[in-house]
Amino acid sequence: MKDSKKIQVCEPLIAKSAKKYLKDCIDSEWISSSGKYLETFEKKWASYCCAKDGIAVTNGTSALQVAFKSLDLKPGDEVIMPSFTIISCATAIIEAGGKPVLVDCYPDTWCLNIEQVERKINSRTKALLIVHMFGHPADMDSIMSIVRKNKLFLIEDAAESHGAMYKKKRVGGFGDLSCFSFYANKLITTGEGGMVLSNNKKLTKKIRSLRNLSFKSERRFYHTEIGYNYRLTNMQAAIGISQIENLKTHIKIKRDNTFFYNKIINKMRLPLRLPMERKESKSVFWMYGIVIENHQFDAVYLANELTKYGIETRPLFLGMHDQPVLKKMKIFKKEKFPVTEELSKYGLYLPSGLKLNKTKIKRICNILKKIFDEF
Ligand SMILES: *Cc1c(COP(=O)(O)O)cnc(C)c1O
Repeated sequence: MKDSKKIQVCEPLIAKSAKKYLKDCIDSEWISSSGKYLETFEKKWASYCCAKDGIAVTNGTSALQVAFKSLDLKPGDEVIMPSFTIISCATAIIEAGGKPVLVDCYPDTWCLNIEQVERKINSRTKALLIVHMFGHPADMDSIMSIVRKNKLFLIEDAAESHGAMYKKKRVGGFGDLSCFSFYANKLITTGEGGMVLSNNKKLTKKIRSLRNLSFKSERRFYHTEIGYNYRLTNMQAAIGISQIENLKTHIKIKRDNTFFYNKIINKMRLPLRLPMERKESKSVFWMYGIVIENHQFDAVYLANELTKYGIETRPLFLGMHDQPVLKKMKIFKKEKFPVTEELSKYGLYLPSGLKLNKTKIKRICNILKKIFDEF
């Protein structure tokens, strides 16, 4: 397969203004972890998501780490979270001294199952971690009423859902804290990067301190708590601002490509479950994820076939309850999460980069059809 024929799973778009802002950082010699772009980036992103404060950090994983660390979890404190997600969610809770408690997800939106959340709440439950999965907002009305009724902290992981909306309100502004990633495959990228948004002044202050080695303002090099160096640079923030300026375009590309894929695949009548959005939600369709509905073969088979034609794919998450490293720690009872297991085994995502076009999508769909026809 010639390289030019290959279709990558993900390609970022770099805004023109990135070069200008970056040049300004270099010309002004503000290249490290303070400067006007950092402050502006935090303010702009918080205000876009209708949150009070933003604390920029090195990546989405460190955002989750300082977010949970700020909650002061005590041994035995439980945090309910989805089984279908990235491992950073579980490790952040464990490292902060909490116990992750899992719930399954819905087969259509892939977001966490609300009925199961309600069943898992008890006197030890301290917080709820929700993940807006693959660009689709979680079920926010039910979630807000659960956290209010039970006085739980709400943490949002919106790493895949920049700009997604639930009833005209953007994700990232609902929780006490919300975590974003700006990795290369996300809707906004700074190369590597992340941010915690906060609606709680006390937690904001704590997270700012945790990000910077828990320095005390009263006395330099005097520490009463363990902190981290999770500082983002002014240069990354400069790129981030240019990305916010282009987010509307990125969202439009993701949505248009998803609807175009859906239209073609629906016409072909392939046995695939396709991305959708619920009535009250506006998804940003982070990646075009599909599930082989009749289980005639699994996602590994389909991925291998697509690779033969130069089409790159990625598997979906493996459930937290199936992660060897977490199993070894015996945190979870031998529970089953059938939807998560179905998605891991029969799901994958197709090329969804910001440089994808209709010609490439048509080619991908034709090859998909050929694979199903020839099986
Ligand atoms: C990407 C991602 C993260 C982690 O972000 P990094 O910047 O790669 O550390 C966290 N949560 C979700 C849901 C993600 O998709």
